[in-house]
This record gives sequence, structure tokens and C-alpha cells, in this order.
Amino acid sequence: MGVCSTWLRMCLAHNTKLVPNQGEANAGPASTYARKSGRNGEQPVSTATLDKRVHDFIGSRRQLFIDGQLVDAKSGKTFETLNPATGEPLATVAEGDAVDIDLAVRAARRAFEDGPWSRMTPSERGRIIWRIGDLISERLEEFAELETLDNGKPLAIARAADVPLAAELFRYMAGWATKIEGNTIALSVPYAPGAEFHAYTVREPIGVVGQIIPWNFPLLMAAWKLGPALATGNTVVLKPAEQTPLSALYLAEIMAEAGLPDGVVNVVNGFGETAGAALAAHDGVDKIAFTGSTEVGRLIAKAATGNLKKVSLELGGKSPNIVFSDADPQAAIAGAANAIFFNHGQCCVAGSRLYVEADSFDEVVAGVAEIAKSIKLGDGFEGETEMGPLVSDEQLGKVSGFLDSGREEGAKILAGGHREGDRGYFFQPTVIADTRPDMRVVKEEIFGPVVVAAPFQSLDEIAATANDSPYGLGAGIWTKDISKAHALATRIRAGTVWINCYNIFDAALPFGGYKQSGWGREMGHEALEAYTEVKAICAQL
Ligand code: ADP
Repeated sequence: MGVCSTWLRMCLAHNTKLVPNQGEANAGPASTYARKSGRNGEQPVSTATLDKRVHDFIGSRRQLFIDGQLVDAKSGKTFETLNPATGEPLATVAEGDAVDIDLAVRAARRAFEDGPWSRMTPSERGRIIWRIGDLISERLEEFAELETLDNGKPLAIARAADVPLAAELFRYMAGWATKIEGNTIALSVPYAPGAEFHAYTVREPIGVVGQIIPWNFPLLMAAWKLGPALATGNTVVLKPAEQTPLSALYLAEIMAEAGLPDGVVNVVNGFGETAGAALAAHDGVDKIAFTGSTEVGRLIAKAATGNLKKVSLELGGKSPNIVFSDADPQAAIAGAANAIFFNHGQCCVAGSRLYVEADSFDEVVAGVAEIAKSIKLGDGFEGETEMGPLVSDEQLGKVSGFLDSGREEGAKILAGGHREGDRGYFFQPTVIADTRPDMRVVKEEIFGPVVVAAPFQSLDEIAATANDSPYGLGAGIWTKDISKAHALATRIRAGTVWINCYNIFDAALPFGGYKQSGWGREMGHEALEAYTEVKAICAQL
């Protein structure tokens, strides 16, 4: 069984302590943070200990980070974030809007045009980016706690996945800083017979980049965006999701500690319709990079038309996960559960459409339903928790609404299907069968722990069904027949196809979408293209 198929359990194995960093310098006395959660109405109380720095960080008002300074929003406004496990206030954060975005864009412009960043050697730039990765690793526990508090995910998952992946991303991108190259090109200009030319290309940073990120992997999404932007010498204004503003602010402080000059990365928290929209439309921004819903992706693309800034988008998905009868059933069942339930289904690439070859359908779907029923929901800080709450009341409402529509349209719920308890935003891992392709639960992205299952008969049929979606982000294939796997992989219109695994991410592996799942790629060397302009230089000799 592969790593991906045992993801939840593997991550739990790392969840060894809830009283971190006691011996670390500056950590100070630990502070206690009480929380309640539970399944089936029971509300066990657990008490875990937050790192002192995290406790202090969330205990005081968080400001914006502009031009190397922590500042209030010009309006003086603030907003509250809520702990999704309890629905109670977690932190107070400055609420930036168009005015603050403008200040941040101007700071980024100065840093791009005149600052030490623009004069640094690629090697110096790379070393700062590497240090950012190392500092994230050193502060793993603090970042993991912030992610669990803000997003609700199990601490074990944040420790094993979000934070190490973010650190690795920066280290991977640090190496690229010294490897941004162009080509020399031999010319054959037909109207200049006998002339000789020296022609070459160089890759240059695009300039000031606006980056808007979602709440499902707050730190990791910041890393995916910032790493390639910095490796290629751009400057950035980052707008985190309003639901999860904390880790990006913590990262900003760490970036300064790593030696990143003032103004190179600015973090402006605020709401999408105000701060986000202002960033996407700002004429001083040369490129906008966005991860989020396809609906908002369209707004970003429209907003970018004013100055025709470059756009990259990583959007929604409704990814097919395809199990053939010759697959290892246990690996496929565990893999299908991981594909949809990892991060509570709040993954753009979640394997939310499960297709199983007809003669194995009952066995595989029953197996996934059994896992769904066994997953332990709870506060992310509780040691046994395998799935935390959804991120917000709004998200809980959306997921519940999809279940209502599935029921009304005649689908059968094999597991879950309801909110869990009445405190926090918990939703049961859910498996739905007896669906038709025209049902909303089959067509639309739910962004919750809900999988729809259907049988298929042949490879041709499943290739067509898999592609029958406006999205094209990811897909999974489970089979022991390697030829069948690769033959199907070439027919699927998606940016990532996993074979006998799912949810495998690596800083070196490009990620992004076909069709309405996006424009461009993140990670890998492909990401550098989204952050560079190519200049052709031609000299007559
Ligand atoms: P979700 O619906 O899951 O919250 P969104 O796509 O709405 O996902 O949000 C992703 C990010 O986009 C967040 O940072 C959010 O603030 C931002 N955002 C939302 N609406 C807009 C908008 N109109 N313009 C720019 N950014 C936006």
C-alpha cells in the first residue's frame, strides 16, 4: 500500500505531542488553550498547550505587513477570524482595502525598481529564499499550530504535510534562482542575405506581482506563490484568504528575519471584494496569480484586462478517481478515501467522483463507506482526530446544501450526509451512490468531504465520463495493468494524473489545470515561466 493510500494514518503517526517547544530558547512558559469538540453530540473537552509565540501572536491584534513594517489599515478597520472547531473568535486582524493595497503596490514597485533586491546576485537571492525554507522548518510547530487554529485541520496533518511541503518549496525554488537561463538562437533572416547576427533570449522578472490565495492550505499556498516569484526576482503583494490570515503574517516576519529586503513581499489581509478586487484591478500590478474558485477566477481575469496584466489561475475541480477491477482492492479503497477525505475534501484536486469498474463496485464503495464511518472527527488539536471541521459556517452551509439537493434528486447516501454536532463546522465524511450525471452533486465542486460513486463498464466509457466535466485539474487511476493505466492517463484532460496513488505533491512536480481549472502551472520549473518575461536580443555582427 502506497504512502498516499495511508495518508491519514501516516500523518497521525507523527502526531506525538501537544506540548511543543518547551525547551526552545525564547519559547517561554507554555500557555493553555482549552477547546471542546466531539462526535455524535458528545463534547469531550481537551486541553492542549500552544507554543508561547503562537499564543502571543494570536493574542494581540495582527497588522498588515507593508514595506517591511507592521501597520494598521488606513481605515483603522479590523475583522475577527473564528476558530472553525468552536465558532469562537480566534484573532483580530487589520482589514486592508484599496488604499492599503495601493500603498503595498507602491512599496513593491520601489523594491523592484530601486531596492537592494533588484541589485542582488541570483546567488544572494537564492540564499535568502533557502533561509526562509529553513526558518519554516525550525518553526514547524508554530506554523502547524497556526494552521490548525485558523483552518481547523488536524495538527498531525499540518506537521506532516503543510509545513514541510512549504519549507521544501522554498528550498527547491532557492536552487532555481541561479538557473534562470535563456538561449542563443541561430538566425536565417531571408531578407538579409549574408548578414550575421548574435541573437539570444534572457528571462527577466515580470515586476510587481499580486497574489491572492485561498484558505485550504494557507501557508502552503503562500509558499507555492511566493517561492517562484522570488526566485525569479519579482516583488509581491500577497492577499491571504480572510478566513485564514495568520500564517502568512507569521511568514512575513520570518521572511524579514531571513534577510528579505523591505517591500519585496507585502501582506495585506482583507476581504475578496475589497482588498482582493483592488489588487486584481490595480494598474501598478504587472501580474496577478490567483488560487481559488473558478467563479472568482473569472472575476480576476476580467479585472486584469484594465492594464492587461499577466494572469495565472489555479481553480476548481471535480476530479475523477477511477478504480479498475484488477486493482489491489485494499490500496484502491484506502486511496479513494484519502483522495476525497484528505483535508476534509477541501482540496481543489479532491477525488470527488469515484468511478469503479462494475464487478468491483459494491466491494470498493462499501469499503470507502466503511472508512468514512470510521474517520474520527474532532478538534485538530486532539491526538486522535483524523478530520477537523470545515473552515467556516458558510462552507458548512454550502456542503449541507449540496447534500439536500442530492437527496431531492434521488441519490442514495451510503455514509455520512449530515453536520456533526452543533458546535464548530463539522461535517460527516459522506459517500453518495445512485447518482445520475446531471445531478448537481456530480457536476459541481462541493469542496467538502463528499464523494459521488458510480460504476463503469469499459475503458472507452470511463475515458469519456472522466472528461465529462468543465474542470480538468486531476485524476486517479487504480489498476495493476500498466499499459491500461498509461493509455487512460494520456486520454484524460487534466493537469495531474496519479496512478495507484493520489494527493502526491512535490515542489518539483508541476500542478495546474486544463479547461476551467486554470491557466499556467505552479511548482516545478514550469512555475518559473509564469513569473518571467522572455526578451529576445538580436545584434548584427
Ligand atoms: P471560497 O469561495 O472557497 O472562499 P474564493 O475563490 O471566494 O474561495 O476565495 C479565494 C480567495 O479569493 C480569497 O483570498 C478571497 O478573499 C479572494 N477573493 C474573493 N472574491 C474576490 C474578488 N472578487 N476579487 C479578488 N479576490 C477575491
